[in-house]
Amino acid sequence: MTVSPEKLLLAAPRGYCAGVDRAVQTVERALELHGAPVYVRKEIVHNKHVVEDLAARGAIFVDELEDTIPAGAITVFSAHGVSPAVHADAEARKLQTIDATCPLVTKVHREAIKFAEDGYTIVLVGHAGHEEVEGTMGEAPEHIVLVETEEDVDRLEIDNPDKVAYISQTTLSVDETRAIIGRLRERFPGAVGPRTDDICYATTNRQMAVKQLAAQCDLVLVIGSRNSSNSQRLVDVTRELGTEAHLIDHEGQVEESWLEGKRVLGITSGASAPEDLVQRLIDYFRARGTDEVAELEVISEDVRFMLPKTIRKELAARE
Ligand code: SF4
Repeated sequence: MTVSPEKLLLAAPRGYCAGVDRAVQTVERALELHGAPVYVRKEIVHNKHVVEDLAARGAIFVDELEDTIPAGAITVFSAHGVSPAVHADAEARKLQTIDATCPLVTKVHREAIKFAEDGYTIVLVGHAGHEEVEGTMGEAPEHIVLVETEEDVDRLEIDNPDKVAYISQTTLSVDETRAIIGRLRERFPGAVGPRTDDICYATTNRQMAVKQLAAQCDLVLVIGSRNSSNSQRLVDVTRELGTEAHLIDHEGQVEESWLEGKRVLGITSGASAPEDLVQRLIDYFRARGTDEVAELEVISEDVRFMLPKTIRKELAARE
């Protein structure tokens, strides 16, 4: 017998943030203006569905700038940002670059540069190997140390403990990061941080919404890809509250065993997951017999970012 929850509760806000929307649109506009192929360094945003869709329209995703990219080719940098070394490499290869780095990631890069210029040792809270972390560390590699946990903070050895600054990746768990920074301030009471939080508005709002969702649901499904940090954190935050949660790319990954005995099913999506995947999941449950669908709006968002200047100029010239 097919089991289906009685009710679906959708978190709001969920899904696309302003930085992802801008990055995806950048590749779309570049394809319109220049035609295929348009090269993109790394996944433009961490979502399988989005990447496959753009690839089908003529975007070529590369892991690093490489010899197969012809000189002069249009090359887009992803929303996660790149280090100065990557910019220099692109220049040496004579690529026409379009930088789709999210402005909120650029803000963190600027903080890193400023703290490094002022002689601080910068403690970056983030996940090793994440593209955003690699890009940020590349701004001042000699000045930045990465910590992932409170234990990492305990192990830190810093020559001048009076000159410590901290910054963070934009897509971390708000609570975990607060604890790590708290520990850092215990060890280095003079540690200074950015004027406003580095964890971005979209990450913060989606976590706030999923916390309220978790309290009202028997199970939460998060739509997002495995390599999406902010999507993974939505699963973590939900589980920390004692509610079962799973990360899925699409409705085809829902497992029957998860649904046994579940009355209210919560749905949310990471900042890089398009809304049509949420709609497909809703349709999937409707087809199984769920007919009550409601939205839990926790906070409303109206953040928008302008497209990169190069794209805006080209669009204006076309008019
Ligand atoms: S999750 Fe935040 S930092 Fe990342 S692209 Fe979206 S708005 Fe920018």
